[in-house]
Amino acid sequence: MSKFGFLVSFIVLLAAFSFPNSSSAYVKNGSKISHPKSAIYWVQGTFSNYGLRSEVVRGVTAWNPSSDIEFVKSTTVPGGADVKIEYVDKYSGDTYGVFRGSGNVTLYKKWRVELSSIDRKETAVHEVGHALGLAHTQKSNDSISVMRQYGFNHKDTPLSDDWSGLHSVY
Ligand SMILES: [Zn+2]
Repeated sequence: MSKFGFLVSFIVLLAAFSFPNSSSAYVKNGSKISHPKSAIYWVQGTFSNYGLRSEVVRGVTAWNPSSDIEFVKSTTVPGGADVKIEYVDKYSGDTYGVFRGSGNVTLYKKWRVELSSIDRKETAVHEVGHALGLAHTQKSNDSISVMRQYGFNHKDTPLSDDWSGLHSVY
């Protein structure tokens, strides 16, 4: 090994120790929708009563820029939809929304009453992210992921970590 080669190896080793988490990214939750290129969604009519349907729909269609997913239409009944979003006009502790498995998302009164428009949309994008197969990302990725466990980036779109995760699932 030349002296130069040794120096390069040393620097690479040093970098590996300096950034131990640089390779960790998105986390998958095992969910996957069955028609990713022709996905169908259902948004409960109740959202329209509050003028919030478009904010919920944004949570769905925000994933369409990916080449892996295409939500093509909404249905008037939940049966057969890949993602189903319902509203419950009650508080559930500190929870804004929850993914209940099999494409089912529930948004709670706290989501409607306490959040700004941009944060309501971010929450919808987040919950649909769960339905598409993403779990919460590592805390170190909070600024590049809508799948952060706590807090908001105030952006109604998936971010770089989310696109990578989606590409890994589909
Ligand atoms: Zn979550």
